[in-house]
Amino acid sequence: MSAATLTRTTARTCPPWCRKHGTDPDGSICHEGEPITVQAAGGGNLVAGEVDLYLNRFDEYGITGQAAIVITASPDGIDLTAAEARQVAAAVLYLAEQLEATR
Ligand SMILES: [Zn+2]
Repeated sequence: MSAATLTRTTARTCPPWCRKHGTDPDGSICHEGEPITVQAAGGGNLVAGEVDLYLNRFDEYGITGQAAIVITASPDGIDLTAAEARQVAAAVLYLAEQLEATR
């Protein structure tokens, strides 16, 4: 085996949906896609807030990580109307299609 075959690449390969990423000194990279935010209006007894969704992939030690859909809600216990839930569902399906298209 030649030395060339033992050389580890440090080339960064972003997934096509990557919009920003951070690189640590140890070479690990966290790629993030375009965020989608769904606002929950609240009102009455419903708690207002927002749901944020984006694609993420963490590459560590030169190994490509597994991409995933990240979903967060702020505050933790928001309430969604049916229409808002449909917006979240549409965003999840959209991101799932992007994820499957880039495997
Ligand atoms: Zn990237």
